[in-house]
Amino acid sequence: MDVDAGHGAALGGALPTRPGELPLTRRLRSLLTWPTTDSDPVAQLVRAHRTIHSGADPAVLRRAYTIAENMHRGQFRKSGEPYITHPLAVAQICAELGMDTTTLVAALLHDTVEDTRYTLQALAEDFGPEVAHLVDGVTKFDKAFYGKAAEAETIRKMIIAAGKDVRVLIIKLADRLHNMRTLGVRSAASRERIARKTQEVLVPLCDRLGIQTLKRELDDVVLLHLEPEEHDRIARHVRDRPGWEAYLDAVVARAKTALRRSRVDAEVTPRPRHLYSIWKDTVAGDHPSPFDLPRIAIVVDGPPTDCYAALGAVHGTWRPVPGRFKDFIASPKNNLYRSLHTSVRGPEDRTVEVLIRTTEMHRAAEYGIAAEFRFPRTGSGSSARNEQLDWLRRVLDWEQDTADPAQFLESLRCDLAEAQIQVVADGRQVVLPAGATPVDLAYELGTERGDRCLAARINGRLAPLSSELDEGDVVEIFTETDATSGFEADAAPRGPRREWLGFVKSPQAQMQINRWFADHTEPGISIIDKVRLGRATIGLALRTHHRGLASDLPLLRLSEELGYPDLETMLVAVFDRVIEPDEVVRQLIDLVDHRQ
Ligand code: MN
Repeated sequence: MDVDAGHGAALGGALPTRPGELPLTRRLRSLLTWPTTDSDPVAQLVRAHRTIHSGADPAVLRRAYTIAENMHRGQFRKSGEPYITHPLAVAQICAELGMDTTTLVAALLHDTVEDTRYTLQALAEDFGPEVAHLVDGVTKFDKAFYGKAAEAETIRKMIIAAGKDVRVLIIKLADRLHNMRTLGVRSAASRERIARKTQEVLVPLCDRLGIQTLKRELDDVVLLHLEPEEHDRIARHVRDRPGWEAYLDAVVARAKTALRRSRVDAEVTPRPRHLYSIWKDTVAGDHPSPFDLPRIAIVVDGPPTDCYAALGAVHGTWRPVPGRFKDFIASPKNNLYRSLHTSVRGPEDRTVEVLIRTTEMHRAAEYGIAAEFRFPRTGSGSSARNEQLDWLRRVLDWEQDTADPAQFLESLRCDLAEAQIQVVADGRQVVLPAGATPVDLAYELGTERGDRCLAARINGRLAPLSSELDEGDVVEIFTETDATSGFEADAAPRGPRREWLGFVKSPQAQMQINRWFADHTEPGISIIDKVRLGRATIGLALRTHHRGLASDLPLLRLSEELGYPDLETMLVAVFDRVIEPDEVVRQLIDLVDHRQ
């Protein structure tokens, strides 16, 4: 078997091309042993991958598996299985999601650098920089070296890597999903700890990236580890519902007839809720037994306007339940989810939930950012992807403003928090965290608007800047420029108030306010320090001219000559670069040489 065949094709030619034999080829000669029969350990992976990407070349997957298997040989999972079962399962999850070959290769190798003697450099030589970047992005910082900060630093590193290539996050999510599936063998305490962390950061991240197929399973497995009895109770309820299937079949058939009559081409299927979602509704509604309504999905084969035609057909058949209609096509959710939601009084007067969406919306809703890898040729969801990446870019923005990884993680958690509201400002919908204030809104509309905001009008009434906004509020923000236009044009900007930090909700606003104060007050550097550092700066500049100062007298004279009230003020100006040290030194030398 020619191990290099298809190499460039699969990796997009990412591998360094240089004369002579690749180290990989040497390494593989000693490893390649299995015959291509049913015992092929990657057969299932290759099959799953080629079901979605029929043209994919499996050779590189085999090579990656061989290296990973060899490197992990002798290592075992807590369950006692050989370690290689884990990366293989992670690659399988990625394959079923529809990811490309490069992602699968990186998934197979994702733990080699962290846990074996295989180095990132060797990996880059063997599989190219793209795979190396993906593996590096999911490689943890060493706890022994970084101590407590390791976890936060690791997430921060992963987010930065994802900014360059979002596939890093998809591998990480698949990795966590498999680890969560196999948590059973761990102690109760570590199961709970890992499940909580998954729920805090990875599940919301998955939601934000719109990958519902992964999120559903993560949700359920988190519930299993955090509330095992509740999980069992809901699972028993779902397994044992007499007449449920027949009822849904009847609903689907009626809906199909209604759609045909309205000449809407659509697929109609039962759409069961996942366990976690049933559990959440049960708890939220304080229901004594699991609360779960029959639900169907209508996926129309046409433009978005067909969704409204389908809605008309459904409402014409069954009476809608008041207050349950939601138009996420006109106002998509913050993860860009689009669909129409309604509830109707179905057959036997039972409430039925109905989701209506186009094929493209359905793909985006199920696969989110992974959709463009699963459906590469349709070009679907590429604008959605850009918007999702916008979010990631904004997160990276705060990352640059946050020196402390723990604070970054906290902001990320905050931003990922599930509760969101939509308000209307500047004639458009703006998504904000629940509990947000006009100041949060002002910063969402732009840094300048935030820094200069003075007052707000909510639904036509003036309101304090600390007011909590509600879903659907129409908000106007007044800024300094509006209030003072025409006069005081030269006045220095007033800037944000410190007390805002006490009530703003969004990390965006928090970061911007902190940034403003950092820019305007240089925290940590006192005037005394500035004087000292200004003097030291002049000392250094003088030394480059082989000069020095025997006393402060020449400096004092110069500060008078330049019009400063005292020497200290000039030194602060030097530190603040209001005057260049070289200029001070030039004048100083001039002054001394002329007076002597
Ligand atoms: Mn792993």
